[in-house]
Amino acid sequence: MPPTFRSRFALTLAIAVLMGATTLLWVTPGMTALALWLLALAQLAVMRGAWPVMCLLAAGTLGLLTPGILSYLLPEAWVATSTWQLLAEQVLPGATIETLRAPLLTTVALQLNALALMLHLRARLGAPLLMGAAALLTSLQAMKSALHPELTPLLHYATAWPGLLIHMALLTAHVIYVYPYWRGKRYLSTALWLALGLVGLSLLLWQRLHVEAERTLYKQAETRVQSVTTQLNREITGHLDAMRRFARIWELQSEPPSYRQWAHQARGYQRDFNYLINIAFITPDSGIRQVYPATPANLSLLGLRLFDVQPAGRSALEPALRGVREGSTEIIELLQGERGMIYYLPVMNAQQAHIGATAMAVSFPLLAKSLFEQLPDKEGLMQWHADGQVLAQHGDASRPGPWTYHHRVQLGDRALTLSDQPRRDHLLSQLPRLPTISLVLGLTFAYLVYLVIYSFKRLGYQHRAMQQNNTSLQQEIRTRSQLQREIEWLASHDELTGIPNRRHFLDHVSMHRSKRPLSLALFDIDHFKRVNDQLGHLVGDDYLSRMALMGEALMEQHGGIFARYGGEEFVALMPGLDMEAARTLADTLRLQIIHACLPHADGEPITLSAGVVSVTDPQPFDMTRMMQTADKALYRAKREGRNQVATGSVDD
Ligand code: GH3
Ligand code: MG
Ligand code: MG
Repeated sequence: MPPTFRSRFALTLAIAVLMGATTLLWVTPGMTALALWLLALAQLAVMRGAWPVMCLLAAGTLGLLTPGILSYLLPEAWVATSTWQLLAEQVLPGATIETLRAPLLTTVALQLNALALMLHLRARLGAPLLMGAAALLTSLQAMKSALHPELTPLLHYATAWPGLLIHMALLTAHVIYVYPYWRGKRYLSTALWLALGLVGLSLLLWQRLHVEAERTLYKQAETRVQSVTTQLNREITGHLDAMRRFARIWELQSEPPSYRQWAHQARGYQRDFNYLINIAFITPDSGIRQVYPATPANLSLLGLRLFDVQPAGRSALEPALRGVREGSTEIIELLQGERGMIYYLPVMNAQQAHIGATAMAVSFPLLAKSLFEQLPDKEGLMQWHADGQVLAQHGDASRPGPWTYHHRVQLGDRALTLSDQPRRDHLLSQLPRLPTISLVLGLTFAYLVYLVIYSFKRLGYQHRAMQQNNTSLQQEIRTRSQLQREIEWLASHDELTGIPNRRHFLDHVSMHRSKRPLSLALFDIDHFKRVNDQLGHLVGDDYLSRMALMGEALMEQHGGIFARYGGEEFVALMPGLDMEAARTLADTLRLQIIHACLPHADGEPITLSAGVVSVTDPQPFDMTRMMQTADKALYRAKREGRNQVATGSVDD
């Protein structure tokens, strides 16, 4: 894909994201939509190269999300859930804590996104990791929203689908835009994959801890209703036992109880179970004979027939009056004007004759009060129902949590239900912060690991590149010095023969200027033109080389230097050799060449002529003059027949 097309695609996507976020903000205003909107603007600013604007927008997003992440992280003891709730209400009237903060994973993913934008393309500062981590967090949310966990989660960590889709599109736009900058950075991939692996592990750990924490909280919250149920069961068993004891007291006397006796006995029971609002003695014809306590409402019942005034309880009362069995009414409106139920227990006298029944009226409001009075109001709503009717309730019904617990209780012949719906704020305040802390720490650790590995890899890469540079530099230096040596050699040597050239020779002369005696010889090959003409230049060149090497070997043997002076002429400097020794040496070379068998076309050996000159005078000498003298001597040798050595004197 050519880069321009890629950028255009990313830009289109970012604009689409901005429009989507605007719609979302309008339809369901909340922190997620607002943060997405700001991030989309920041993304557009990146693409337009407006860095300060982008930094401002991304920092704004981070700032908006910070209270949310703090509310997930800070211990309840430091900042209570109710404080966050209060803050939310102050920011937006009628808002809940959920409006103020985006779901947990969304908050983290959006923050990572904002940070990556602020770091822009800087792979070394972890922008690719932040993008990768944000993508992982977003995909986890998508995965979790597609699943249906058996327990309705208390904490919304995943945002709704529209928000998720917009966020994914935003991430895609960013990745498309920055991909060319990260491509080809080999040292990036090891750090990136390893750190992303750690991010994945942190997410897995968080998921385990989070599910476990919510399950534990679910069980913990249930203990409230469990303990109330146990207490109620104990209460019911207690008052039933007491009632039976009370009903049997009268078996000790033959007469029906008098009011004094009745009040005397009932007082203790009524004190222990204050919700027994009437303990009455009912005669076999269902007449109310005795009541306790003697409240106006109870006293007004005296003499009334229960079969008439409370026909609903007849089916329970009749068997008790006949001494068949004890019974209890449905849940009814009591004659005292409260909701409750009445237990009927048979009463016998000392002769084992059925003399009536004990009626004990239980007031539900009073029973519920004695049960609920220990419970704090703010934790939730506890209700007591039967047949879909609420008998009594206690607590705060505002902002209920997602969980409702139901427990059954047997009261006489009736099965009642106790339900408890804890408040969301209360549950949130109980939810441990550990999973969130572990997620944030895991992500931070992954980021640090990324920085370390990336720097390490990059250093290694730079080190290797430097080593390679060093090696090629050393190679270059070697090549150049080799070239230098060759140039220097070529500057001082003759290319054809390999012996020193005239320049080198003259340098050598200046080195031995003060040496005495000092001799110089000029050599010229005889009839060399003929060699070229008759045998060709290649043979001529070969002869020249061989003669040069012979001359060099001989002169060096005697501490001198032999150089090519030009064409087929050579020159030799012989420090420490006087005229005679120099002449002999030149002659030796002449003979060596004859014996070297370098033939002319007619088979005659090549010969050479030489002119030798020598100085003994310690005074400085004139080199030009010395050369001229040697040349003259050479000329003389040529003229006198060639193949000979002639000497000359500088003084002539
Ligand atoms: P003479 O010195 O005995 O008077 O006769 P000559 O034929 O040697 O005459 P001269 O010294 O004047 O000629 C020099 C010749 O050497 C001319 C040229 O063809 C030959 N010559 C000079 N330099 C080179 C060379 O590098 N290679 C070859 N093959 N020939 C060369
Ligand atoms: Mg010549
Ligand atoms: Mg010659």
